[in-house]
Amino acid sequence: MITLATKIEEIPRVGVAYAKKLKKFGIKTVQDLLFYFPARYDDFSQIVSIKEAKQRLGETVCVQGQIIQIESTHTFKKFMNLTQVIIQDDTAEIGVVWFNQPYLAKSFKEDDFICVAGKVSLGKEGIYFNSPAYERINGIGENEELTHTGRIVPVYAETRGVTSRWLRYVIKPLLYRFCEQIAESLPKEIIKQHKFLPIQEAVWQLHFPESFEHADAAKARFSFEELFLIQLNVLKEKIKLMVKKAHACPMDANLLKKFTDDLPFQLTNSQKKCAYAILKDLEKTVPMSRLLEGDVGSGKTVVAAMAALNVTKGFAASAKGSGEPKQVAFMAPTEILAKQHFKSVSEMLKPFGVTVGMLTGKDARIFRDGETFEVSKKSFTGDLENGQIDIAIGTHSLIQKGIIFKDLALVILDEQHRFGVEQRDHLIKNKKLVPHLLSMTATPIPRTLALTAYGDLDLSLIDEMPANRKKIKTIIVEPQQRKEAYEFIKNEVAEGKGVFVIFPKIDSAASKLAETIKTKGGVVGSVGFAPQNYSPLSLSSLAINEVKALKEEYEKLSKEVFPDLRITMLHGKMKAPEKERIMLDFKKGEIDILLSTSVVEVGVDVPRATIMMIEGAERFGLSQLHQFRGRVGRSDMQSYCFLFTTDPSMLNRKRLKALVESNNGFELAEKDLEIRGPGSLYGTQQWGIPDMAMQGLSNIFLVEKTRAAAKEILEKDPKLDKYPELKERLKEFQKRIHFE
Ligand code: ADP
Ligand code: MG
Repeated sequence: MITLATKIEEIPRVGVAYAKKLKKFGIKTVQDLLFYFPARYDDFSQIVSIKEAKQRLGETVCVQGQIIQIESTHTFKKFMNLTQVIIQDDTAEIGVVWFNQPYLAKSFKEDDFICVAGKVSLGKEGIYFNSPAYERINGIGENEELTHTGRIVPVYAETRGVTSRWLRYVIKPLLYRFCEQIAESLPKEIIKQHKFLPIQEAVWQLHFPESFEHADAAKARFSFEELFLIQLNVLKEKIKLMVKKAHACPMDANLLKKFTDDLPFQLTNSQKKCAYAILKDLEKTVPMSRLLEGDVGSGKTVVAAMAALNVTKGFAASAKGSGEPKQVAFMAPTEILAKQHFKSVSEMLKPFGVTVGMLTGKDARIFRDGETFEVSKKSFTGDLENGQIDIAIGTHSLIQKGIIFKDLALVILDEQHRFGVEQRDHLIKNKKLVPHLLSMTATPIPRTLALTAYGDLDLSLIDEMPANRKKIKTIIVEPQQRKEAYEFIKNEVAEGKGVFVIFPKIDSAASKLAETIKTKGGVVGSVGFAPQNYSPLSLSSLAINEVKALKEEYEKLSKEVFPDLRITMLHGKMKAPEKERIMLDFKKGEIDILLSTSVVEVGVDVPRATIMMIEGAERFGLSQLHQFRGRVGRSDMQSYCFLFTTDPSMLNRKRLKALVESNNGFELAEKDLEIRGPGSLYGTQQWGIPDMAMQGLSNIFLVEKTRAAAKEILEKDPKLDKYPELKERLKEFQKRIHFE
């Protein structure tokens, strides 16, 4: 017997071959197939007489008629099959043409009734339908059972060999048989409160809607449901954590005052506020889960250092504490950043007798009593386990096997985007106490996303830049101004300033970009790739192209444009120590121009750099461009961001203009959301957030509603025992989605 759980290969219309194709997009059972929703619709709902159709040239309409003539021929070039049909109704007759579907001539017979839908076109022999959608009917006026025409027709995201027409043919009979059996997954009270369609009705209306209003109502239900599931997921994690215990680390006011007094600058109000929120959280026995957001250069590291100091030293000194020193783990995404943090944190905490360790893939270092020395990995791990390292800074090496903290009280994550529960679990092993968690990011997260994907974290925002900063001047450089920009760069370098040149990462199309810039000296030539094609992944074969194109650019800059300047390349294929050496040379002023792919994206601090020049700027998202720009303007010198573009389309212009006009990462992220849609948000693709939820992400009201609903349900029934269907859906959902 076939049920919702039946494997699709057992469905006669599907079979093994199609089942294989469908599995590629995750469809395994009848239920999966019913939940494979269309991406859009064709509106073929206007059925008109043939006479009227002939007066609607260029419009999309649907007509019904009887076949009075069929002909199958070849075009003059011989390789195209042509099926020509003439149909008529009471009012007129009209020709219909299909290309390369020779079976049509065989499947239709004269006197058959068919319904066709498509654009009314004008050809040499008059008005006709060119390759319309079609289906056989029993007679004119038979509209009840239309699937491919005469209605709003679902169009699915098609993959090779699986057409929308085939999906409609398979899904419709299954809907008739099984739709009623789909169990309602949303709690009754929610359906009632929001007047949602019941699930069976919603599934039906999504596939074969009676009207666009019906389709929208069905979509609204599933958008809600998917966001609701995300909320349940995050909130459940949050609850799980709240019943755990963490080290309470009382605030040591004297210690913190000494720390701020020793700084060479005043903390901004924002920094103070955020630090306070964090220190307050640390006092509790409930594990902190806080996200510290702040634009590049807003000074997150100092805030983190304060928290770390209070945990390691404040706690020991405090009468309220156990007197045992606690440890801090500080994780950075790259070796360069780990080293930078190691240096600046050791520097800041020098007067406090804190021992800071650093562990990356290759290096282990310890800073103790004012001195830094290299140690073996073995002695590092030993010290860590004995509690002789207070703060351990490092890359992912910190969470590998064999790394054991004596008493870890706080984990700080820089630019990790998401910290998996798994990793936190890894750090605590079997310990009873859970460390507090402080996650930091310069990626502006729009409110909707903060409330969903990051919904388990509390939020602190540094929304103010240190006072000594000048606003970076951002300029879209027209092709004819390229020379001028180069001259400007020469003058800046003559004053001892540093320049970044960012060259987009390469896919095959982008090597054309290199070509365009090379042969035309930067004259605009559309190279015809979509702006969204920018891929943050560096596949090794692409990386080879990347290096090649970068080298070409390097040749050009160093031989033709700036023969007198010291230019160096930096790219993803280089080994970490080499990258680090180059960054250091650049920092020290031994390199004038650093040409690189997007490796400089995160957190590297080079105060002497004042120009950020970006080639192919249209290939990056606004948030990312904003991040690049944040590499300069890290001192009191005036800095500049030059945007070069090879695709001057209006949309790109609009985006780049937004960057010129705004210096606010949040505004820009919201703008990207508005212009390019939620898919442009950093990380959303990787998370695998389902489509419906993704669309819902641009709707703050919806997000807030789902959050409130999830809270309400979990407060009543934290384990969802009273909602077995919902619980089941959530389990499936968790398998599909991966917040990493
Ligand atoms: P980010 O938030 O991007 O991680 P950092 O913490 O690296 O920023 O800080 C960038 C630079 O600004 C560092 O050199 C830091 O010493 C400096 N800085 C931080 N806070 C202030 C402040 N309140 N006033 C002046 N400079 C500051
Ligand atoms: Mg930083």
